[in-house]
Amino acid sequence: MKRPVRSESSSYPVFWTDMKINILTIFPDMFAPLRMSMLGRAIDNGIIELNVTDIRDYTTDRHNRVDDTPYGGGAGMVMQVQPILDAFEASGFGGDVIYMSPRGDMLSGDMAKELSEKDEITILCGHYEGVDQRALDRLGAREISIGDYVLTGGELPAMVLIDTMARFIDGVLAGDESVSDESIYSGLLEYPQYSKPREYDGDEVPEILLSGNHGEIDLWRWEQSLSLTRERRPDLFEAYVKSEPALTKKQKAILAKYM
Ligand code: SAM
Repeated sequence: MKRPVRSESSSYPVFWTDMKINILTIFPDMFAPLRMSMLGRAIDNGIIELNVTDIRDYTTDRHNRVDDTPYGGGAGMVMQVQPILDAFEASGFGGDVIYMSPRGDMLSGDMAKELSEKDEITILCGHYEGVDQRALDRLGAREISIGDYVLTGGELPAMVLIDTMARFIDGVLAGDESVSDESIYSGLLEYPQYSKPREYDGDEVPEILLSGNHGEIDLWRWEQSLSLTRERRPDLFEAYVKSEPALTKKQKAILAKYM
């Protein structure tokens, strides 16, 4: 949904943004890559509003610390509740709160799409052994993991989440691109792509792609997708077949070869 954003000097909306993304981190500089390429353009165009708060700016510790040892003993340090909650409050952040965490729900395309429809989300990035549970409870944080492995901090996972979410927001992708044509979202993996030159060191582009026959090209690409998916992701292939996609006679004949 479009949301008006007002400038400090005017009471009239100056542009419209689709989504406000807030980040709580102790390494704000790590988010510089989001200001490049397509996401950078979406931010410049006001489609996405990105706000990054340094949690350390809000610690009341005189040595500027934001972490301490865990109660009950054990290795490492834990991010403390006070700086996180004060940073959240003082920044005026709101919306759904997400804590990037290896013990969270696994990030998926469906989850990214669902989150992309929110007006505002706030992402908390952990470090060390993680975050004091009381901060997560008070913020009502939903935990999201980007995979079954452990990173040193939540900044890279947050950027992965933001990037994949942003692709579902209108105006982020170039005009002729569509999320639903991509691997996974289309139900199949993408076919091989080729560009100029037509011949590289003896390697030719498949003849069919030069034919100008778009019906045959689409069919060839679809078969490539089908065979690649069956080979690399039998789970996806099975789900695709079970979904009973609407197929043409020619496609049905091709599919029969792969069953
Ligand atoms: N002690 C924690 C545990 O065992 O669950 C891991 C802490 S990890 C070293 C530090 C921070 O990195 C986490 O608080 C989290 O924000 C982030 N992180 C690490 N792996 C992640 C993953 N797979 N998905 C999302 N965030 C992750």
